Amino acid sequence: RAKEAGRNNYQFYTEGMQDREVRRLELDKDLNRALSEDQLVLHFQPQLDLATQQIGSVEALVRWQHPTRGLLPPADFIPLAEESGRITDIGRWVALAACRQLAAWQGGPLEHLRIAINLSGRELEDHDLVENIEAALRSNNVSAGQLEVELTEEIFIDNLEHNLDQLKRLNQLGVHLAIDDFGTGYSSLAYLRDFPVDLLKIDRSFITRVTERHDDAVITRAVINLAHNLGIQVAAEGIETEAQLNFLRTHRCDLAQGYLIGRPLPVEELETLVAKGVDLGHLSHQAP
Ligand code: C2E
Ligand code: MG
Ligand code: MG
Ligand code: MG
Repeated sequence: RAKEAGRNNYQFYTEGMQDREVRRLELDKDLNRALSEDQLVLHFQPQLDLATQQIGSVEALVRWQHPTRGLLPPADFIPLAEESGRITDIGRWVALAACRQLAAWQGGPLEHLRIAINLSGRELEDHDLVENIEAALRSNNVSAGQLEVELTEEIFIDNLEHNLDQLKRLNQLGVHLAIDDFGTGYSSLAYLRDFPVDLLKIDRSFITRVTERHDDAVITRAVINLAHNLGIQVAAEGIETEAQLNFLRTHRCDLAQGYLIGRPLPVEELETLVAKGVDLGHLSHQAP
């Protein structure tokens, strides 16, 4: 009986694995088609400059307008794309779409905006990454300073030499470099000395309870001071309440991002939001 149960378990297990593999292959095929049929879209989340009260930059977050499953968040396809390597094509599309958007904004009220794009560690492995970004900038006549790339600390764990080289080349191009999800990456801080970083983005997990938990407040203040003492800008992710925003303003955080300021929006809605002046009345310090 034990043997039979074992065999059944084994069968169940392999069937599960095969199903999973089939689904993954199908998803990758669909993703490839998504790229060729232009089913990916960028949504843009505003970042508030706390010194000027202006939206100075937006983060581009990719979505997949799936023909049958609706609008899919990155969690539904980015991890698989990282495994299959398809992320390289997605990243190329994202960089190009961001540069096209920057070009489209030139001469209009949003021409001052910077766009931040996300790059996963897997994308840094691509030896053509920097050339592709440069080509996307050049073909759209966009200056590199209007583009920022967000990377997580995972890139400071393996392939250090290659990754440092890639970041230096991006930096020489004039692209800004941000560290995303800062404080969650289990990497050493030495990279802040050795890599050309422009911005630290404090992870949402510290911000969520920053006004309730002493330890989150201590860590957040320490990261703000660390960044400023190194001459680096600092942003907070995931701001949902006015109390969180006031805390960050009080402690001189430079940039604020989160649902309170604005959700990731399709480009038309972002344009409306920025044109309205983002109705920052209720977010400003002086407001009653
Ligand atoms: P991320 O870069 O850390 O992006 C922030 C995520 O937090 C976004 O989720 C955003 O919608 C969400 N968020 C922003 N403000 C708030 C808030 O106030 N509260 C809460 N609860 N969430 C908030 P999203 O769009 O689902 O993206 C998830 C992750 O997918 C991103 O995390 C990024 O790592 C990855 N990703 C997105 N677009 C791309 C891309 O073009 N390329 C690559 N490689 N990765 C991407
Ligand atoms: Mg990001
Ligand atoms: Mg983040
Ligand atoms: Mg993240």
